[in-house]
Amino acid sequence: MFVLTLPRPVDFVSKAIVHLSNQTQAKQLVFHLGDPDPVPTSEVFDHLAELGYPTKKIGFEEWVALWTEKRGGLKGGEGAFTIDIIRSGMPSVEFLRGIVVLNNAQTRPFRSMVERPKVDIVLLETYARHWYARGWLPRPPSTQLAKGGAAATFRKSVLTGKVVVVTGASSGIGAAVATALAREGCHLALGARRTEVLEAVKRRLAVREGKVIIRQTDVTDRKQVQALMEAAESELGPVDILVSCAGVMYFTMMANVHDKEWDRTVDVNCKGLLHCLSATVPSMLARGTGHIVAISSDAGRKVFPGLGVYSASKFFVEATLQALRLETAGKGLRVTSVQPGNTATDLLGMSTDTEAIKQYGEASGAQILDAEDVAGAIVYALKQPDHVAVNEVLIEPRDEPI
Ligand code: NDP
Repeated sequence: MFVLTLPRPVDFVSKAIVHLSNQTQAKQLVFHLGDPDPVPTSEVFDHLAELGYPTKKIGFEEWVALWTEKRGGLKGGEGAFTIDIIRSGMPSVEFLRGIVVLNNAQTRPFRSMVERPKVDIVLLETYARHWYARGWLPRPPSTQLAKGGAAATFRKSVLTGKVVVVTGASSGIGAAVATALAREGCHLALGARRTEVLEAVKRRLAVREGKVIIRQTDVTDRKQVQALMEAAESELGPVDILVSCAGVMYFTMMANVHDKEWDRTVDVNCKGLLHCLSATVPSMLARGTGHIVAISSDAGRKVFPGLGVYSASKFFVEATLQALRLETAGKGLRVTSVQPGNTATDLLGMSTDTEAIKQYGEASGAQILDAEDVAGAIVYALKQPDHVAVNEVLIEPRDEPI
């Protein structure tokens, strides 16, 4: 039998108390740390099943009867902890229904820099490792989601506390960058068009120190990009780093004139980048600091047949970044172009020109990059000392050199 108590994590409560005590400008004297959006128990048990601890669902009355029966034999030692907590007996259904969930809307703006940890599978894995280490569970959790994340001791780095905007964060390289930067303790503003997928990315992040917000953002729409940057600035602070990952790639033969896909390529890969630059560069220059990272491609160095318009869009990215780097030298800005080769992401499956795919888009059989490999190169560029700028990173599968 499983009795589970999920307290608000003590490190969140203690950090929030310290932070709120410093909000001397606040008019209110009472602050609530209650969670207005509690996690449904069914979700917790689903996660536990994923961690290797399946449970059987039974009715509440039946469960209380079972609890009463099982607890009878426990006098101390094993299980005493549980009995201490609920010594006064199991609450009734009426009592549970009457529980008031405090609305913390007034408090939230004051503690906006202190992120509430999510009660998600990563946190549960962390707890389960602890329960196993204490001998309360017969075996360790079967997942490794929290390794290097919530379960590991957090070590501050030069990136801890930096405010980073990532576009195209819902999948592939952008999602891997978000994961890597969450581990470094960055505050993240994640943008993409599919918000439900962004939500899922956010849920999977092992957030230790930073805060994460998501915004539906189509980079082809200048206003939406502006709104993403404004949300980042107002909720997280001035943007230190932009990682522009939003992009599309269509294999097309020039002769087959897939003009809708060509338009889309120019709109997302070229204009989308310009929208991101116009919404970040002026403020970075005004502050005399900032780092722009854009995912270009090895196709930004060399034209690949079957990818003519895509290559052209990445040459555009290269030219834009070079100009930005040269014109702003001495003003505190760093500009990094990341040029990956074949990387295993959804991007490889967007094309409709079957002739181009057959002739130029077939896999070579070589092991290609993972999105995490590219994210690692980006973290490397971001971690350099202030006076060092990694201008370009060409990263290829070993067996597919260019
Ligand atoms: P994915 O398809 O996995 O990711 C592309 C991302 O871009 C998604 O998050 C998608 O989110 C987002 N996106 C697409 N259109 C828009 C839009 N209009 N507005 C906002 N976001 C958009 O592919 P990758 O991770 O591979 O691609 C990331 C970058 O890496 C691209 O610039 C690509 O050109 C580049 N690259 C990739 C290589 C590879 O082999 N995979 C090689 C070299 C470079 P959503 O659909 O939710 O909006």
